[in-house]
Amino acid sequence: MDIELPAAITVRELADLMRRSPIELIKELMNAGVMANINQQIDYDTAAIVAEEMGFHVVEPTVEEPVVEEQAEAAPVATRPRREYSAEEVKFLRTRPPVVTILGHVDHGKTSLLDVIRRSSVQASEVGGITQHIGAYQVDVKGQRITFLDTPGHEAFAAMRARGASVTDIAVLVVAADDGVQPQTREAIAHARAAQVPIVVAINKMDLAAANPDHVKQQLSDLGLVPEDWGGETICVPVSARTKAGIDVLLDTLLIVAEMADLKANPRATAEGVVVEGRLDRARGAIATLLLQEGTLEVGDTIVVGTTYGRIRAMFDYTGAPLAKAGPSTPAVVMGLREVPAAGDTFTEVANERRAREIVAERIEEQQAKSAGATSALTLDEIFAQAQAGKVQSLNLILKADVQGSLEPIRQSLEQIEVKDLSVTFVHEGVGNVAESDVQLAVAANAVIIGFSVGVDASAERLAAAEGVDIRLYDIIYRVIEDVEKALTGMLEPEYAEVLQGRAVVRQVYRISRVGIIAGSQVTEGRASRSAIARIMRNGELIHRGRVSSLKRFTEDVREVAAGLECGIGVDGLNDLQEDDVIEFYTREIVG
Ligand code: GDP
Repeated sequence: MDIELPAAITVRELADLMRRSPIELIKELMNAGVMANINQQIDYDTAAIVAEEMGFHVVEPTVEEPVVEEQAEAAPVATRPRREYSAEEVKFLRTRPPVVTILGHVDHGKTSLLDVIRRSSVQASEVGGITQHIGAYQVDVKGQRITFLDTPGHEAFAAMRARGASVTDIAVLVVAADDGVQPQTREAIAHARAAQVPIVVAINKMDLAAANPDHVKQQLSDLGLVPEDWGGETICVPVSARTKAGIDVLLDTLLIVAEMADLKANPRATAEGVVVEGRLDRARGAIATLLLQEGTLEVGDTIVVGTTYGRIRAMFDYTGAPLAKAGPSTPAVVMGLREVPAAGDTFTEVANERRAREIVAERIEEQQAKSAGATSALTLDEIFAQAQAGKVQSLNLILKADVQGSLEPIRQSLEQIEVKDLSVTFVHEGVGNVAESDVQLAVAANAVIIGFSVGVDASAERLAAAEGVDIRLYDIIYRVIEDVEKALTGMLEPEYAEVLQGRAVVRQVYRISRVGIIAGSQVTEGRASRSAIARIMRNGELIHRGRVSSLKRFTEDVREVAAGLECGIGVDGLNDLQEDDVIEFYTREIVG
C-alpha cells in the first residue's frame, strides 16, 4: 500500500495514516532503536523506515519541506521500583494492564472523566450497561485493558500509600482548562511524585470558551511538568468529558505510557494484592473489591487480608458478572471474608484456613506491639537519628501557609540553608490549614509539616498523633528558619558529653512545701551553675540526676556560685537527699 509522508510527522499521525495502533508503531520504532512517545515528532527517514517495515510503500512528498532538527530522546518514564523477581520467576512474567488513578482539583472533572471512560467501554461490551461502583473498573482499548481506580482524588491515593500499598502505575492529573492549576492540583502532583508514579495530564473542559490550555501548560511548566510540545517530558492531552473529545487519545496515551513502563507480573505466583474497597452487605456479609498485583485468585482460595481472612465463596468482575479466576491488575469483588477489610489492606493467598488463622494471630500481635511502641512516621528527632546513621540526606518538609505570598520567602530562605551534605526538600507546599491529606503525605514521604500562621484540622491532628507526624506551627519567619537550621545541624550533631563544671557538698537539707528539697550546700570546687545538670552522688554512687531548678545565694537567684561559697540548690525531681551528699554540676557539650 502506498503512503505519502510529510517531512515530519508525529507518532500518532503516522499511526493514523497507516491505520495501525500507535502502540504497534511505537514497538516498531523501538525495534529500530528509536524511543518515541505518541505526541513526539519523528523525522522523514525514521518514519519511512518503520512504515516500510510495517509493509507500506513510501512515496516521496509532493512538496519539499524543510528537514526537522534532530529528534530529542524520549522521556524516561518515572516508575516506582518494581518488585524483584527470581530468575526462575522471570520466565513466567507477563505484561499486565496498567492501574490508573485520576487525580486533580475538585470540580475539574475527575468523576465526569471516569464516567465517560467507563461508559465508553460498557456500551460496547454490555447490554443494559448497569455498572455498580466497586472502586475499580477496566476498559478495553483496542484489545488491551486498562484498570481504573474509580475513587478519584489524592485522598484515597494517599490513604492507600499511607497504609503501605502502592497500586497505581499511572496518575492522570486532571486540570480544567478554564481554571488552571489549583491547590489540589499541586497536592496531587506532590503525591504522584512521592509515589514515583508517572503523570499524564488531561487538560479537561476544552469545550468551554474560556479554555486556555496554554495557560495551564505554563503553570505546569512552572511546577516542573514541562509539556512535551514545549520540549519537556510531560504528556498533556486536551480532553472534554462533556463532548468526549480527546478521550480516545487519552486512553491511547495511557497504553503507551504503560508500554514504556513495561508493567509485568507473574500470574503463577502466590496471589497477592490490595483491597480497593470493603463494605458490609446485610445479606451477603463482608464484600471486598480486591486488586490483584501478582498471581491468580480463584474461587475456593483462602486469603489473609489485613487482620482478617476467609475462603472465597464467590467472585465477580466489575460488571457484576461471575468470575472464576482473576489475574494481575484485575479488580475482583469477593465474598467469604470474616470481616470487612479496609481500603489499602494487602491480601495474600494462603494454603488453608488454619494457616490463615496463624498469620492473622501474628499480625494482631505485631499490631499491638507496634501501637504500644514507636509510631511509623518520623519526627524531627528521629530524622536526626537517622541522619546520624547515614540513612537520610535530606529533611523533607511540607509547608503550609496562610497566604501564597508567605510560601515563597519561607521556601527560599530554607533552601538557602546549607549544612554539609544535608538539604531541605519540599515535598509539598500549599495555602491553608494543615489538612489530613498533608499528614498522609508526610507519612508517605517521611516529612515534617511546617505550618505558618495556619491551624491544624482536627482530622489532621488525630492522624498526626496516631502516625507520629511532626507538625510545627510558627508565626514568625525567622523562627521557622532558626528551627530548620537547628534541625539540620542537629542532624549533623556529634555526640554530646557531660563535662564536669564543679562540685558542692550538702551541708543541710531543707524541705519546703510546694518547692521541694533545697540543698544548703557549699561549693567545693569549680562552680555551681544554674544551667547545669546535677548529679547527686552518695558514697560515690549516683542516686539522682536532674536539671538544676534553682540556685540561690541567700534569697537571691544567681547564675553561678564560685568555689568556697555557700548556696541553696534545687534539682528537678529530687526527693531524697542527705547531708554530705555531693552535687556534681555538668554541662552538655559537643565532643569531636
Ligand atoms: P470532580 O470534582 O473533579 O470529580 O469534578 P466533576 O466530574 O464532578 O465535574 C465538576 C463539574 O464540571 C460538573 O458540573 C461537570 O458537569 C463539569 N464538567 C466536567 N467535565 C467537563 C467538561 O469537559 N466540560 C464542561 N463544560 N464541564 C465539565
